[in-house]
Amino acid sequence: MQKNRNPYPCLECDLDKLSENLAALIERCHDSDIEVAGVVKGFAAQEEIVRVYERSGVKFIATSRIDQLRSMREAGISKKPLMLIRIPMLSELEDVVALSDVSLQSDITVLRATNEEARKQNKIHDVILMMDLGDLREGFWFAEEAVEAALEIENELKNLHLAGVGVNLSCYGSVKPTRRNMQALVSLAADIEKAIGRSLEWVSGGASTSMKMTLGGSMPYRINLLRIGEFALLGGTYDCYPDFMHRDVFTLRAEVIECRDKPSHPIGELGVDAFGKTRTYEDRGIRRRALLAVGRVDYGDPADIIPRMKGVEVLGASSDHTIVDVEDVKDQIKVGDVLEFDVSYGSLVYLSSSAGVRKTTKGGKL
Ligand SMILES: *Cc1c(COP(=O)(O)O)cnc(C)c1O
Repeated sequence: MQKNRNPYPCLECDLDKLSENLAALIERCHDSDIEVAGVVKGFAAQEEIVRVYERSGVKFIATSRIDQLRSMREAGISKKPLMLIRIPMLSELEDVVALSDVSLQSDITVLRATNEEARKQNKIHDVILMMDLGDLREGFWFAEEAVEAALEIENELKNLHLAGVGVNLSCYGSVKPTRRNMQALVSLAADIEKAIGRSLEWVSGGASTSMKMTLGGSMPYRINLLRIGEFALLGGTYDCYPDFMHRDVFTLRAEVIECRDKPSHPIGELGVDAFGKTRTYEDRGIRRRALLAVGRVDYGDPADIIPRMKGVEVLGASSDHTIVDVEDVKDQIKVGDVLEFDVSYGSLVYLSSSAGVRKTTKGGKL
């Protein structure tokens, strides 16, 4: 991932701020008897950053991708169990069993095949059954089907251990966690516990968007695990940014490669842009514009990077260039300068995986 040897563009992670964010949110989760699985896919499981999670109070380190599980294993991350949070492909089960300690699951065919693979590897693999409560991504749709799967795991799939149930919300269908859907998960857990005649270790009530209810003290008692990515990395999510969290853990830096006055409306007959989109441009007269050597290939959507300097405005971007209006701060910016940006979760995942972006860290010395 570290192919860019030049200084910019670069993505810096402040390890001390991240460590404080993790400590603050874990303490508050513990107030509600909730444990945290630290989700590391947001920064592509970069080793120096995962080490912060390893030293923190998270119960699991979680990611959606096998390649990240492998790089963590190879780096010797071993102090916390590793969790696979994208329900597995049939074609990757050998790695799922070899590299993760627990996986989220929602299909009986895959569960049976996982059991077979665990038998071959002479392992007991933990699974958490996912229930779809309306967000329409992964999960069993009918509670009876989930209970049947639980019974089969418990009684027949001897190389699997049913560790709990979980739900994912707010991802595809934008469905918010509420008392109602959390209660539905709790009652599914109770049905399964009754069917198998023992209690489940984990009832996992979602991701970062479940922090708001948790902080408000309204999570039902039985919910005891959240899988948290964004909230720790960016200091909150959507409508919940508590003041005890740092929002500037990550900094994107990009270099100015041109800075001059130009009209704000393109000259000539307009067709489509580099991505085949028809766009509109506001005519604000002649203004100072800076061109930055970073583009959509690095961060996805230019709306997802936010200039730290007041008066700088992102106008648009192509694959490798970002155009910013700097008219209001034109005395302060010239070629060779470096501008700083906050990132949103959308841009963070791209920046972390872009080979052209140098990754650096700051702090972290104990
Ligand atoms: C990505 C993901 C998470 C973490 O989501 P955040 O919103 O970043 O907290 C949790 N669970 C699953 C299944 C995920 O895919």
